[in-house]
Amino acid sequence: MPELPEVETIKRQLELEVKGLTIVASGSHSSHKFLPAIETVGAEIVGLKRRGKYLLLELRDGRDLIIHLGMTGQLQISSLVNIAEATDAYTRAWWALDDGRHLIFRDVRRFGRLFVVSRGDHAKIPTLRDMGPEPFDLNFDGEKFWGLMKGRSQKIKTQLLSQRPIAGVGNIYADEALFLAGIDPATRSISLNRAVDLLESIRFVLKGAIERGGTTFRDYRNLEGIGSNQKFLVCYGRYGQPCDSCGSILRRKIIDARSTTWCSRCQKR
Ligand SMILES: [Zn+2]
Repeated sequence: MPELPEVETIKRQLELEVKGLTIVASGSHSSHKFLPAIETVGAEIVGLKRRGKYLLLELRDGRDLIIHLGMTGQLQISSLVNIAEATDAYTRAWWALDDGRHLIFRDVRRFGRLFVVSRGDHAKIPTLRDMGPEPFDLNFDGEKFWGLMKGRSQKIKTQLLSQRPIAGVGNIYADEALFLAGIDPATRSISLNRAVDLLESIRFVLKGAIERGGTTFRDYRNLEGIGSNQKFLVCYGRYGQPCDSCGSILRRKIIDARSTTWCSRCQKR
């Protein structure tokens, strides 16, 4: 699933393509998850934002088109004028732009979702409404991060994936950051010092991944192709291989239904 670095990459690339353009026509799959696409006809795209793993296209009329890529969602710009040629069986929504091109949303598994809301009104999108701070927010620090986790009974990895103590971290970057911070992903409570280390590790792994255009395993594509961060992962998906730090074999376990890789020697409870 695309996480913060992947969505941030797409946001930066898409901004250069669609900012200032007006949507002149649109189409969508019949599912209620994609139908909001057609509510945007006539609107000008004035800006793009990212919040956690959500992409927000700001429209001049005061609404936002919010895109969640789900597991397999991809955004593409097609220069093909004929919409039948620009789309395929996995196209779930499309927008014709006033420069003649099309913005295409493909989603093979259909876990993606679109919303059109008044700017800032996230009442119907609980994950977005209840989302914790952005990792790179200058007002966010280890103490605030710790405060948002303190007293919670869930395992630390589950807390990260919930998006509540911090926005944008999913399975890949949770495994990476917990490894770098030396924290066992099944730990339920951490000290302030370890929270400071974990926030630093999260920022480090996200920053590196953004610089490399994201991590591509299967479906994630940015507008220019694939990211290269998969070559730099030190923990995620490497179970059965030796730990870069101590040489022990990295192990795999399921934590709250999510596959988790960790080093039982380097990562402490
Ligand atoms: Zn190790």
